Amino acid sequence: MDLFGGIEAGGTKFVCAVGSGPDDVRQEIRYSTTTPAESIGRAIAFFRDVRAQGATLRAVGIAAFGPLDPNPTSPTFGYITTTPKPGWAHADFVGPLRAALGLPVGFDTDVNGAALGEGKWGAAQGLDTFVYLTIGTGIGGGALAEGRLLHGLMHTELGHIRIPHDWGDDPFPGVCPYHGDCFEGLACGPAIEARWGQRAETLPPDHPAWALEARYIALALVNTLLSLCPQRIILGGGVMEQAHLFPLIRQEVVALLNGYVQVPAILRDIECYIVPPGLGNRAGVLGAIALAQASQ
Ligand code: ADP
Ligand code: ZN
Repeated sequence: MDLFGGIEAGGTKFVCAVGSGPDDVRQEIRYSTTTPAESIGRAIAFFRDVRAQGATLRAVGIAAFGPLDPNPTSPTFGYITTTPKPGWAHADFVGPLRAALGLPVGFDTDVNGAALGEGKWGAAQGLDTFVYLTIGTGIGGGALAEGRLLHGLMHTELGHIRIPHDWGDDPFPGVCPYHGDCFEGLACGPAIEARWGQRAETLPPDHPAWALEARYIALALVNTLLSLCPQRIILGGGVMEQAHLFPLIRQEVVALLNGYVQVPAILRDIECYIVPPGLGNRAGVLGAIALAQASQ
């Protein structure tokens, strides 16, 4: 059995695992994100330990917070790029791992990893063009286009797309340090908390926060749908634990499209079009394992 290492590198925590898929995760550790040297060092120690126990690793995959450079031909491939996270701007992530372990290393955003994993084992099996969006501390989107992770100029940055903001209806200025009221600025978990003065998970289902949240998410999904033509959109992250958001978002998407897109996925099967992750909160770490498998 070929085994792969996966690192889900989040802004607050790291999860490192060894396995070959959802039914075969053999070992896993998690720890708080600190400096690059310490956080990457602990991952290296974990994989060395796994090898010392006799396992053969074929490759390692990193699904990381961004922005990052996923282009293997770029001189800064494998680096986190412009993050405001202290110590991590322009940090080399792949280099130290490759040097220490001598293995191929796959490297992409957490959401591109999750998209790849969802395509392989989760809610997007059998599809070749789809989007995975997380709505949590930040908002990020990953996309497969015709079977490949979408890169091009960089990686997708669906969290920072601009959506209409009615200042009369919602005077909240947004929390994005770059744009203020971009999608993430208006709709991430910390935006909900700052706007309403309490953590999103403590707001009751009938709170007006949710209709507004569903509207912002639907506006972003319509833009995503019209530009990338995904065959399905998967919504994960802490905020989407609020399952009652799904029907609200679906209704808004249909209403905003206003009959323009005449396809069965929208007209008839919207419940199967905008869905939660099939891998649940395992999408991140399994995505990292999927990136390892794809790196070979
Ligand atoms: P991260 O994005 O840091 O990986 P999460 O996806 O869990 O982590 O997102 C954390 C954000 O989601 C926080 O802003 C938190 O308030 C919000 N959140 C977490 N759980 C819930 C929940 N059950 N309902 C609504 N919001 C939640
Ligand atoms: Zn932004």
